[in-house]
Amino acid sequence: MPRYCYVNGRFLPHRDGAVHIEDRGYQFADGVYEVVTIANGTMVDEDPHLDRLERSLKELRMRMPMARGAMKLKVRELVRRNGLKDGLVYMQVTRGVAPRNHAFPSDKVPPAIVMTTKKMDFAKMKKFTDGVTVVSAPDIRWGRCDIKTVSLLPNCLAKQAATEAGAYEAWLVDEKGNVTEGSSSNAWIITKDGVLVTKPATNEILNGITRQTILDLAKQDGVPFEEREFTLEEAYEAKEAFVSSATSFVTPVVKIDDHVIGNGHPGSLCEKLLGTYQDYAAGRRSRAA
Ligand code: PMP
Repeated sequence: MPRYCYVNGRFLPHRDGAVHIEDRGYQFADGVYEVVTIANGTMVDEDPHLDRLERSLKELRMRMPMARGAMKLKVRELVRRNGLKDGLVYMQVTRGVAPRNHAFPSDKVPPAIVMTTKKMDFAKMKKFTDGVTVVSAPDIRWGRCDIKTVSLLPNCLAKQAATEAGAYEAWLVDEKGNVTEGSSSNAWIITKDGVLVTKPATNEILNGITRQTILDLAKQDGVPFEEREFTLEEAYEAKEAFVSSATSFVTPVVKIDDHVIGNGHPGSLCEKLLGTYQDYAAGRRSRAA
């Protein structure tokens, strides 16, 4: 079965998907994106992702390329055409195509949209059972990390450093020594007292949809949590740690730099939270109280 993509109103074979050389996403990274998990053919947290997409666009004074209902239909059609059961949908909106000039083009220039899908087998992921390692890296990003922009060069540099160190993820550390988040995930620790800790959602991090779901589910289940700053030193001493994102769910972290976390294997609260999130993604439980 050919793999399809969606580009500016058309479903095309994936290999034929292309954008114009003067697309502002290509020229200036002037665009935003979302990654949504597909579990059992259904989008996980569809509306929260579309809410965040709308917010990112609004913050950058861009508009949605189509109404939300139409967008949902396009995603469903792409998922259907690609026979996607488990995996992700990537959607990207840019400020459109215009002669190269830093200032915005006229309002008449329509935003450009691209959507692709990728198959993934969430049931067989070794990272869930074995855990992963992370390395720290300085957070050199801009002041609006709450916007999900395609301008990801500092994140790419950090992820490359992690890859070269044989690690799964880089945890970004600000000038005060606090962990902000991962290069493509949110960062969490669990204290010796079993309290879940993650940084508050400020302009310094992307407020992950998975992050929000985990907090809601923790609240429902009476798991104590705190949204507060934590330093790299505190993370080294944590009982457990994990990263979250649409495609990494709750991925246990078993080593940070040279510090083994717990006994070097995924801890019990991580395993519980992963199970809870997997149940949620599969539609076996809901987020509403
Ligand atoms: N932070 C960053 C920098 C990210 O790139 C991502 C994933 N796109 C996340 C956090 C996690 O967000 P989500 O749970 O919505 O995937």
